[in-house]
Amino acid sequence: MIMKKNRQLIGRGISPGYVSGNAYIYKDILERDYNLYPISEQETEKEYKRISQAFKKTHHDLTILTRSVERELDKDLADIFRSHKMILKNPSLLKDIKVELEKECVNAEHIIKTVFTRYQYNLSSLEHSFLRERADDIADLAKRLIQSLLGVENLLETVPPDIILIAKRLSPSDIVFLRKKSILGIVVEFCGTDSHSAILARGMGIPVISGITNVLEQIENGEELLLDGITGRVILQHDEKQKEDFNQHNREYNKVLVDAKKACRDPAITRDGMHISVMANICCYEDAHLARKNGADGIGLYRLEQLYLDQKTLPTEHELTKKLRLSLKPVENLPITVRLLDVGADKAIPYLNYAHEYNLLFSRRGVRLLLDYRELMSSQINALLKLSGEFSLRIIVPMVTLAEDMKQVREMTEILAKQLGINKIPPLGAMIETPAAALCAAEIAQYAEFFSIGTNDLTQYVMAAGREEEFMSQYYIQNHPAVLELMRQVCQAVPDYEIEICGELAGNPNAIPGLLKMGIKHLSVFPLCIPVIKEVIRNS
Ligand code: PEP
Ligand code: MG
Repeated sequence: MIMKKNRQLIGRGISPGYVSGNAYIYKDILERDYNLYPISEQETEKEYKRISQAFKKTHHDLTILTRSVERELDKDLADIFRSHKMILKNPSLLKDIKVELEKECVNAEHIIKTVFTRYQYNLSSLEHSFLRERADDIADLAKRLIQSLLGVENLLETVPPDIILIAKRLSPSDIVFLRKKSILGIVVEFCGTDSHSAILARGMGIPVISGITNVLEQIENGEELLLDGITGRVILQHDEKQKEDFNQHNREYNKVLVDAKKACRDPAITRDGMHISVMANICCYEDAHLARKNGADGIGLYRLEQLYLDQKTLPTEHELTKKLRLSLKPVENLPITVRLLDVGADKAIPYLNYAHEYNLLFSRRGVRLLLDYRELMSSQINALLKLSGEFSLRIIVPMVTLAEDMKQVREMTEILAKQLGINKIPPLGAMIETPAAALCAAEIAQYAEFFSIGTNDLTQYVMAAGREEEFMSQYYIQNHPAVLELMRQVCQAVPDYEIEICGELAGNPNAIPGLLKMGIKHLSVFPLCIPVIKEVIRNS
């Protein structure tokens, strides 16, 4: 057993807020043991019937759940469970189950677990977080089916109220179920920031921390915890001073929250009269809608990746134009910056067959990949040029390292605009995400009309600590003096430029005073952070 005196566990805050309470360790049905028993070949038909009935019951339960979520929460959130019903209706799923059952000749619960774990594994091993996070939906369905086969009700039923739930993973329907239970907070090992579970938890205002390895072994049942959903810290066995500090942060946070919500559509003006634009980082229609609702002054970063990564084939220029037009609708009157596709290396597109590279973080990604796959880039630029007549658009280029990267994108954009008969091309900007780009900003500025500093990548390249690595958190520090110094140098190198910050640092209230001091006037953050960040600016 690990020593637990005065310990902190550091994860990621994926739903903000402060809460203290007692831990409750929860293991779901997929983690518990249940009987595995062989069946004869003749019994497989009967067993398959049990499975079909479990499918029918689950489908029925999901219909009821969808209606209640729609009624009590939100229509868009209900779509999550509609999509679960569609997965159940997929004929190849039942076919796979039948094949597995006839091959293995074991009981239905085991077959469901095997087939769904395989589906889940295939999704979770994909590089892109959007697809990885869909693995949670598969686990959710497996759980429902096994519960139905065993004739047990939801195990969360036994969770007492007013506790901090500690779990390996929680499915979207678990989170919805928990809203009846007045849970104080959640600590979960696996849950992506953009997963459905995280979206639901944020919608319900429950603080959540994720990304703590072996969390079930690190926390004891009943142990008192202080949970800080902003910085992603869980404090165990705290002393008086830690509790006092925690309570103070909580009071300040709640005050800011109340004031912030009321004023989220007002401009963010500092005490000395500086207007700071607070924009949103988005990747889909839902985000755009939320950004609008939360008072975004614009879209500082539209990440195109989702339009590529949830496809089986390369989207055509026409498809891109259509999908982008649709997802930008809620923010059509705001200034919008769309980033060219940032994939390659760590985010692989399965249908783009490029050679495997040895060191993923230091290989072809962002603009480097686009320059090697010109058609991939031209279809995006063409789509954006066509949309530039309808929206106030700017284009930003990811992972710029050399001025030459930007020069080539500019030349290509000019050629494509000419072919389309467009005289005025949208402003072209560069993401500053590598130390080289930060140190040579003035040179890059010859070909870029604005900059956006991507502190997520800049930090990993400055600190030599991968942003996805669980064990690098003590090195991966976005407001480390070395990272801030490079940012300051960018501001000094191009004093007349519009410089935006679009990494996670911009959404960290503690970092705002430092960024303002640096002369930053444009921030782009996760849509839910907008009200709080605007309020922090007003108090700075
Ligand atoms: C960044 O690197 O800070 C950034 C905003 O880009 P992404 O997180 O998409 O890599
Ligand atoms: Mg980046």
